Amino acid sequence: MSDKAIEGQPFVRFDKVQKSYDGEILVVKNLNLDIPQGEFVTMLGPSGSGKTTCLMMLAGFEPATHGEIFLGGQPINNVPPHKRGIGMVFQNYALFPHMSVGENLAFPLEVRGMSKDECATKVQRALDMVELGAFSNRMPAQLSGGQQQRVAVARALVFEPELILMDEPLGALDKQLREQMQYEIKHIHENLGVTVVYVTHDQSEALTMSDRIAVFNDGVVQQLSSPSDLYERPDNSFVAQFIGENNRFDGKVTSVSRGNCKVKLDSGETVEAAAINVGGKGERTTLSLRPERIEINPKSKAGRNVIKGKIEEAIYLGDHIRTRMTAGGSSDFIVKVPNTAGHTPLEEGKTVNIAWLTEDCRALDPIV
Ligand code: ADP
Ligand code: MG
Repeated sequence: MSDKAIEGQPFVRFDKVQKSYDGEILVVKNLNLDIPQGEFVTMLGPSGSGKTTCLMMLAGFEPATHGEIFLGGQPINNVPPHKRGIGMVFQNYALFPHMSVGENLAFPLEVRGMSKDECATKVQRALDMVELGAFSNRMPAQLSGGQQQRVAVARALVFEPELILMDEPLGALDKQLREQMQYEIKHIHENLGVTVVYVTHDQSEALTMSDRIAVFNDGVVQQLSSPSDLYERPDNSFVAQFIGENNRFDGKVTSVSRGNCKVKLDSGETVEAAAINVGGKGERTTLSLRPERIEINPKSKAGRNVIKGKIEEAIYLGDHIRTRMTAGGSSDFIVKVPNTAGHTPLEEGKTVNIAWLTEDCRALDPIV
């Protein structure tokens, strides 16, 4: 697809990139990130974690303080934004209000000296991609927020760039429209094979759209993984807490062997867990366990950790019963009990056995 892409090289590479705005605080600490051509990568993290700054450096609007950024194998630190061939979509999709939709899209092409015929073909193709083929003559004010945002996406596509950057592009839309646009953008990505770097603080948006997600916290990528790996195999406590719902409970490592460890919980019981990110014997650890991986009164105890838990609250949610318990030293221990035939009745105030497989519980860095 690209004359710029060099065989075997990542399409985008951040190499030891740092950024400071004030010469003191590093808001991006040491970013190493390789993105192959055609991938949809999302930078996900809380506000202020450095996502937009990374996108701005890639786009060329902010210089990196240290390190190098490569596009198609070429260093681009000294290439100005308009020569990088990158399409961009932002939350504030300012369209020119006095120009029609078609003119908004044609403008950047005409400025570059493209012929009227070629412009018209490209504009129509880009509008068709966002299903606004019939809206070329409308003025922006005659469009809904969602339609305006689609025009902004079309405007980023009209150049046929190989790389598109999107920074919280759906942030201004209501939930239903946002979800619909997530699928549309995902399908455009699939159809065009274009590389996308997408920024959001919304985890479900990231999980829906991405091939891989880089979870940011405090200017550092905490984990770069597929959506399912982030949820099933978090590397550290930040990721375990940030993605999906998580039970965490603390204890001390009493032994480590063959990838597993025994942990004496603060509540007294000893359990076994996968040793993912633990120190040696005597060190503290935070265990991470997803609410749907826990059984109440299991039929078999084989291969399972079993502790006592007291049911504090059972909330009926149709497909499952959300059960809040006191267990493992936490009074906010959540178990999702699927609403299948014959599940244990959940009486508030009752103490029951709760169980999980060792592999489903991950011993991570302690949260202090
Ligand atoms: P995010 O997009 O993850 O919310 P940002 O990259 O916007 O994070 O911001 C990271 C940090 O850099 C924040 O502390 C923010 O206040 C700071 N910052 C962002 N832009 C600027 C700027 N132009 N000048 C100074 N500080 C900035
Ligand atoms: Mg931002």
